[in-house]
Amino acid sequence: MSPRPSAYVLLERVSNLLRAELRSAGAADELEPVHLQALDYLDRANAYSNTPLAVAEYLGLTKGNVSQRLIALERAGYLKRTADARDRRVSHLALTAKGRSLLRAAVPPPHWREALAALPAESVDRLERGLLDLLRALQLAQGGRSFGECRTCRHFVVDGGRYACGLTREPLAAEQTTKICREHAAPELPKTA
Ligand code: SF4
Repeated sequence: MSPRPSAYVLLERVSNLLRAELRSAGAADELEPVHLQALDYLDRANAYSNTPLAVAEYLGLTKGNVSQRLIALERAGYLKRTADARDRRVSHLALTAKGRSLLRAAVPPPHWREALAALPAESVDRLERGLLDLLRALQLAQGGRSFGECRTCRHFVVDGGRYACGLTREPLAAEQTTKICREHAAPELPKTA
C-alpha cells in the first residue's frame, strides 16, 4: 500500500479544488473566491462581527485589501452598509436578497455537496471532528480569534428563556445565538483540585 499523503498535502489539495470551484461560480459576475468568502462570512457573522475589520481578520487579509472587495460587492448590489448607531465611523454590512441568492447557489460549491453526500455519515462526522480539532490547535498556535458560535461562548448568558451577552451586557435575539462572533471566548475549563 502506498503511503498516505500528509494532512497538510491533503488539505492544500482540497483547498485548491474548492477555490477553483468558487472561482468558476463567481466568474459570471466577475467575482473572485475572496468575494464569495466575504459574503459567506457576513452571512454567518453576528451584529458585533459584521464590520470590515472583522471580515479582514476572519479572512486573514489586510483591511485595505478587504475594503476594496467590500466596496465592489456593495456597488454590485450584493451587500448593503449601515452606520453604527453609536459610532458613525463604524459600518455594518449585511447581504441583500441578491447577495443571499448568489451565496446559496455557490457556497458550499455543488461538487463539495455531492462529494459529502456520497460519504457515509460516520466519515463526515469523523472528518468534521478532526478538522475542528485542527482548527482549534492552529488558532491557539497563531494566537488568532476563534470566531466561534455565540452559544458556545463563556460570556453567553441564558436567563429565564432570554439570551444576553455577558461581555457587552446587551440582550441577544435568538437568531444571533447561532451566529459566529469576533469576541467569542472559549468556555473556561473546570478547575482541578
Ligand atoms: S456571548 Fe460571546 S459570542 Fe456571544 S455576542 Fe457576547 S462575546 Fe460574542
